[in-house]
Amino acid sequence: MSAPRPRWREVNGIAVDAAFLRALEAAGGPQVLGYPITPSVFAGDTLQQYFDHGRLDAPGRSTPHAVGVPRVAELGRALARALRAPPAQDADDGGGERWTDESRRAAAGRPVSAPLRWRGWRMRIFEREVVRYLERSPVDALPHPGRLGELFVALDDQQRRRGQDGPAPVMRPSASAAGEVHAPILTYHLTRGAAAFRAQLEGLLEAGFTPVSLEHLVAAVEGWAELPPRACVVSFDDGWAVQLDAALPVLLDVRVPAVFFVLPEFHRHGQGHMTVDDFRGLRAQGITVGSHTFNHAHLPSLAASNLSAAQAEVIESRAWLETEVDGVDFFAYPGGSFDDGVKALAAAAGYRAAVTTLPGIVHRPERLLELRRVAVQAWWPLADVLQAIRNAAQVDGAAAPI
Ligand SMILES: [Zn+2]
Repeated sequence: MSAPRPRWREVNGIAVDAAFLRALEAAGGPQVLGYPITPSVFAGDTLQQYFDHGRLDAPGRSTPHAVGVPRVAELGRALARALRAPPAQDADDGGGERWTDESRRAAAGRPVSAPLRWRGWRMRIFEREVVRYLERSPVDALPHPGRLGELFVALDDQQRRRGQDGPAPVMRPSASAAGEVHAPILTYHLTRGAAAFRAQLEGLLEAGFTPVSLEHLVAAVEGWAELPPRACVVSFDDGWAVQLDAALPVLLDVRVPAVFFVLPEFHRHGQGHMTVDDFRGLRAQGITVGSHTFNHAHLPSLAASNLSAAQAEVIESRAWLETEVDGVDFFAYPGGSFDDGVKALAAAAGYRAAVTTLPGIVHRPERLLELRRVAVQAWWPLADVLQAIRNAAQVDGAAAPI
């Protein structure tokens, strides 16, 4: 059993007990679970902590398990029984909680954590619920469609925070922790059977690449998390239904996280795209779902001719998806086409990051809305993928990771 990771605690400032640390190590540590987003909570006899891509349970003394049971990718299912609340009317008063429905507040029980800050949200955990609201609008001049005052999590009656009454700090890292990271975001579209894709992914793993979620990569850019050496991200564009047959089972089998940029309602055109049930299924299996607009619109020209239509493609597509799946934090510009105005729309929609088709592997905070990627095909031999990564690194002025 390896020792607790000092950097892990330093980055996140979370106090966790020894049983939990053992469970964390047994579950594969931060490389599997990502970074913690809540303090530990007790559910019955089980200590729980939520991570950006999973929940980890460490059973207590009365449960006959020696180590924790990781529930990777359960965050969406367990946390995001999102209860829609009307937007709050006023600005943040810094109090750490703001309820739009006093009856809900009464039902939530007493607060069990101090106010928390998490990637632009303020949150507070109560006995039975977590309240969160947006601390800042990414573009102050534009109305933010986010859900101020949204009640976001319903914990069950038995859940309570373990330990003393002290605050449970989840602190944003210092600005100096944010910075440049190098990691290829691979872009896939169609597939030609599972075997070729499996061979390619296994080749990447054998070559020393560690696939991480897009959340993890963005968290590293923001200074929340560290990337493992030779990290990469797998992304699929356009929401083709064939991705479900030829890519998804392989991703799940080899435990590679991925983000799928989908086209809500596009299946109506009968061209073989995923349905909303498919989106839900992806999310339930731990896949990140991002928006790629409703109509695969060329956004710069659409914004020039019909701004409100462009807004709908960027902003409403997120709102639409978020009524079905949680965590729609990422956007892919259709065709890779964007300009400053389109980026402003993505910011106004509240996307945490947006991906382009510009080649590159270098990610910096000021480029979160224009993340570079590496275009590959799911059936390529490994050597071609590695060459594409090298080419993209060169274009971006970076050393190749391999
Ligand atoms: Zn596309």
